[in-house]
Amino acid sequence: SPATAQPAGGTSHPLPYEDSRLPVPRRVADLLSRMTLEEKVGQMTQTERYQVADDTSPITTWHLGSILSGGGSTPTPNTPTAWADMVDRFQRAALATRLHIPLLYGIDSVHGDGNMLGATVFPHNIGLGATRDPALVREVEHVTASETRSSGPQWAFAPCLCAARDDRWGRTYESFGEDPRLVEQMETAIDGLQGPPGHLGDRDRVLATVKHYAGDGDTRYGTGSGDYPIDQGVAVTDRKSFWRNALQQYVPAVRQHHAGSVMPSYSSVDWTEDGVGNPVKMHGNRELLTGVLKGAMGFHGVVISDWEGIHQLPGDWPTQVRTGVNAGIDMMMEPNAYQSFETTLLDEVHAGRVPTSRIDDAVSRILTAKFELGLFEHPFTDRTDLPDIGGPAHRAVARRAVAESQVLLANHHRTLPVRPGAHLYVAGSNADDIGNQAGGWTMTWQGGSGATIPGTTILDGLRQGAGAGNVTWSQDASAPVGPDDVGVVVVGETPYAEGFGDVGGPRWAYDPGDHGVPRPVKDMQLSGADKAAVDRVCSAAASCVVVVVSGRPLVLDPQQLGEADAVVAAWLPGSEGEGVADTLLGRRPFTGKLPVSWPRTVAQEPVKGGDPHDDPLFPFGFGLTTARRTS
Ligand code: BGC
Repeated sequence: SPATAQPAGGTSHPLPYEDSRLPVPRRVADLLSRMTLEEKVGQMTQTERYQVADDTSPITTWHLGSILSGGGSTPTPNTPTAWADMVDRFQRAALATRLHIPLLYGIDSVHGDGNMLGATVFPHNIGLGATRDPALVREVEHVTASETRSSGPQWAFAPCLCAARDDRWGRTYESFGEDPRLVEQMETAIDGLQGPPGHLGDRDRVLATVKHYAGDGDTRYGTGSGDYPIDQGVAVTDRKSFWRNALQQYVPAVRQHHAGSVMPSYSSVDWTEDGVGNPVKMHGNRELLTGVLKGAMGFHGVVISDWEGIHQLPGDWPTQVRTGVNAGIDMMMEPNAYQSFETTLLDEVHAGRVPTSRIDDAVSRILTAKFELGLFEHPFTDRTDLPDIGGPAHRAVARRAVAESQVLLANHHRTLPVRPGAHLYVAGSNADDIGNQAGGWTMTWQGGSGATIPGTTILDGLRQGAGAGNVTWSQDASAPVGPDDVGVVVVGETPYAEGFGDVGGPRWAYDPGDHGVPRPVKDMQLSGADKAAVDRVCSAAASCVVVVVSGRPLVLDPQQLGEADAVVAAWLPGSEGEGVADTLLGRRPFTGKLPVSWPRTVAQEPVKGGDPHDDPLFPFGFGLTTARRTS
């Protein structure tokens, strides 16, 4: 395995910062005292792999502190070994700098390392929220950390701590649920990624990022209009409600789980008590980033901006750079403008508009993370666990997580579990589509339909569990339905990330430059083809089960509800479709509980738990078990 870096002080006389026996704060102070302003500003800068994939020299020239892979940015070939080779190649360029400061590599491992071909892809957070099983979530994220770190990246941009308050939001599936207290319970995700305190240097742990601080799940279009949600919009609210819905879950994340980094939200807050009309972007929000997060909550880690987040701040580019850094952002995710970020920040410091104390604070936080991750001693990828990526032990954890995430919404006549020996008639758009099953942030940013990743579809799982001879498969339900069949119609969404997402409509409806034009509202309906499949199968089969594969509740109209004997919310299960089959076939009980209220109509949005006037179709926390008889 590759040698560790040659210390700047030479092997026999290491400088204090190179001496692993010294405490981290001492090493940080020593290294900081040796750095030029250019080197410091470089540490505060992150670019995208595509800038350095062919020529790594900018890593050295610009003293870059970090590289990321944005969604779908992968090496060729996209194999675990190619990832490790790539990250190590970048690392060699970082270690060629005067002080040999190692690089941090960040990636969106939001449901496993979904960018890497062959990785174990777990249910998205909404499914994990449905499990109500914090120990399982810790285990899921430990596997994620292991698969991520053994292939190079030491930093995950996860988990999302948003409480999704309106299901039309295109990131609802990245949320553990609508209730901040449920989100808090699932913060064991941080422990799974980082390990217990002091274990960041282990080969199977990564630095976690809680995001998007704060209020990302509760924003509306424009200021005060309040009739539909928008990604990257404005939370119009009072400070007390904002604390309750958006901020409180960050307190245990920081104090109890020691999250190593925080990513600000693209959204804004507009305080009603100050008079609505002055929305402040989180990326420039000094009160919330420095005052509340770093001050009141006592956060000592790294604040990493979101992708070009400061470009949305008011003013010209120098103003945006200055405002973001002075607000409390320590490292800037600048995939494209990284060079100009560095030169502009240098100018701002020289002009006295950004204090050097702010720079030193930011760099100390970044170096602390690097020391704690053990990167100075072991800068290169430890490949011991590479063979386990996507292996049976990891997939078994995912399969269990899938089974525990299934929520049984209706089960008339004890239709589920399917009785042994029954003939299954399987139909619907999402029965045999692993891409749809995995959702966004899978291989590409937006994800995609079809056989995008290895694993099992729900149909594979049913064939394997019930015996292939006992399964008839007809996606559009055009094959004749036998009168003794149990129908299983698997319906739902196609993948999307951010924006609104859509069922059968435009995937990407967000335009950051466009404020003032009404946008399409999510309808959350089943597609016409899925409705037809439900109608055909449920009218002909002896009994019928509708399985909804989606990142949020979908509107089930009375006709489909009336026809179905059982209804299951399967969320976005990921690579292990067998986990869905496990519950349908009774190998595992249904135990999942709704992480969000399930509305009757889109007009009910935002439908939230706890308000009796909301009258959802199924309330937050609802979920039948297969052990109990239902009405
Ligand atoms: C998303 C973040 C993500 C980042 C890097 C942004 O578009 O909002 O959640 O971590 O991209 O890929």
